Amino acid sequence: MDINNIGDWERTNNCGSLGRDDIDREVVLMGWVHRRRDLGKLIFIDLRDRFGLTQIVFDEEFEKTSHAKAGILRNEWVIGVKGRVMPRLADQENPDIPTGDIEVKVKELKVFNKTNIPPFQVDGKIDASENLRLKYRYLELRRPALFHNFVMRHRIALCIRNFLNSAGFLEVETPFLTKSTPEGARDYLVPSRISKGSFYALPQSPQLFKQLIMMAGFDRYFQIVRCFRDEDLRADRQPEFTQVDLELSFVDECGVMDVVEGMMVDVFSKILDHPVSTPFPVIEYNKAVNLYGSDRPDIRFGMELVDLTDLLRSSDFRVFKEVIEQGGVVKAINVEKGASFSRKELDELNSIVPDSGARGFFWAKVKSDGWQSTLNKFLAPDIQSAVEQRLNTKEGDLILFVPDKLQTANKALGLIRTEISKRLGLVKDETYSFVWVTRFPLLEYDRDEKRYVAVHHPFTSPLEEDIPLLRKRPEAARARSYDLVLNGSEIGGGSVRIHTIELQNQIFRILGLGKEEIKEKFGFFIEALSYGAPPHAGIALGFDRLVAIMTGAESLRDVIAFPKTQRATCAVTDAPSKVKDDQLAELGISLLYP
Ligand code: ASP
Repeated sequence: MDINNIGDWERTNNCGSLGRDDIDREVVLMGWVHRRRDLGKLIFIDLRDRFGLTQIVFDEEFEKTSHAKAGILRNEWVIGVKGRVMPRLADQENPDIPTGDIEVKVKELKVFNKTNIPPFQVDGKIDASENLRLKYRYLELRRPALFHNFVMRHRIALCIRNFLNSAGFLEVETPFLTKSTPEGARDYLVPSRISKGSFYALPQSPQLFKQLIMMAGFDRYFQIVRCFRDEDLRADRQPEFTQVDLELSFVDECGVMDVVEGMMVDVFSKILDHPVSTPFPVIEYNKAVNLYGSDRPDIRFGMELVDLTDLLRSSDFRVFKEVIEQGGVVKAINVEKGASFSRKELDELNSIVPDSGARGFFWAKVKSDGWQSTLNKFLAPDIQSAVEQRLNTKEGDLILFVPDKLQTANKALGLIRTEISKRLGLVKDETYSFVWVTRFPLLEYDRDEKRYVAVHHPFTSPLEEDIPLLRKRPEAARARSYDLVLNGSEIGGGSVRIHTIELQNQIFRILGLGKEEIKEKFGFFIEALSYGAPPHAGIALGFDRLVAIMTGAESLRDVIAFPKTQRATCAVTDAPSKVKDDQLAELGISLLYP
């Protein structure tokens, strides 16, 4: 059986494959009418399939009957043609496409399907609304640029699988119908028909199962797996998303980092032909926040945050003085050559600050004859030169000062730093800069819930030396956690896990779980820890985000075939949707809001 046969026609080539070497061959192509130009005696069509475009020509003199038939063809009709490969006339060659030297003169035409007028043109500008494009996603996916993202996605996944396979990892599937694992988001629930009143949760991650797999002795596990989190959607989130999930036994932080670095080197070199150097820099959470104002620092440029509190404590500037007296700080960044920012630009920049709760920045332009700044009259020359020295300023630079509480000042300057890097074009698109951010706080206090919550998840191990802190100052304990950050985006996070019952119970108790609740929610897991749990660690990488960065896609939606809308609906099928009363009855469910 020939898989390329359809009826008595055999597809000999795809639309991206023919070139000069094929001239004079008789070929059969199949695809969609992408574009057509009707010049009367000659009708030109760009025939499209996922492999490319080939120009086909219906020439009245060459073949009368098919030329006559071709007159009715319209964009997006699905056709097959038999014809001969011919060279294009010299002035009609198209160097932009691989098949640009040839055309196929059609002898026979088969129309497989006509089409209604599509809601938007596949060949054309993206001018339809996003909702319309999502509703007719299968039409949008015909667009070569978008389709290319899925070729890349496939290749990246394949490369990761091959790499992990060679590194001794086993791919294991874990359940989708399961019990909730706390990863900090709301669960998607699935009602059980057999146990009425009970619910499965769709996994926020396979966290507990992958740990059980380590306890089963599988040693190295991976899965490219869908995860589900019912969160309010921000621009770069999706309710279902894909993770590259790993877990390893008998390793510590370095073991995980080593595998992930090797994987990134492999993927970036094989897919993008881009060298990535290892080891990736490692920066502790506290340092990242203090230096870059973010736990996802973009380290492709400097502009580090500098603490000036000690220098400005004795200044005459009331705002600085008051903030410092109240236990706050004055931090600053030096924007090289930033003195050219206009007052309007500075005001605009300052308007992004309120988002982070800070009161805004004060600025000083470093000029040959001193500072141009409202601060000038308040800061004595010796203070000004001490500030310049610490910030290493040069003439033409711009200093931005933020007086506030430490956390607020860091956050504000972090936002400003990123915004300025965009405005000044400090980063080139094709540079990839990885950094590990480690030792996040283990716990943080949730004022609404009035209890501690895990920063990563409750199965993350504290640093050995910080275990004594758990009794009196749990918020000061650091975690054996690590995030992988690429160009200022978090693309993964993981940790060394707790593998003893005692420590796991202690953490659950600090999180406010009573004995009964621990037993009810995690009894199976605690029990598993009692039957020989090896030391283990792991990580999950956000696969969609990685693909988006590697393809240069602006949004995660451009790398997910059927993404959800901003309202978490599926625009193609209209899910979620109402179900019949008898379906609900079968599940023992009655609706509060029918
Ligand atoms: N399960 C974690 C997450 O999904 C990652 C990990 O700790 O491996 O964020």
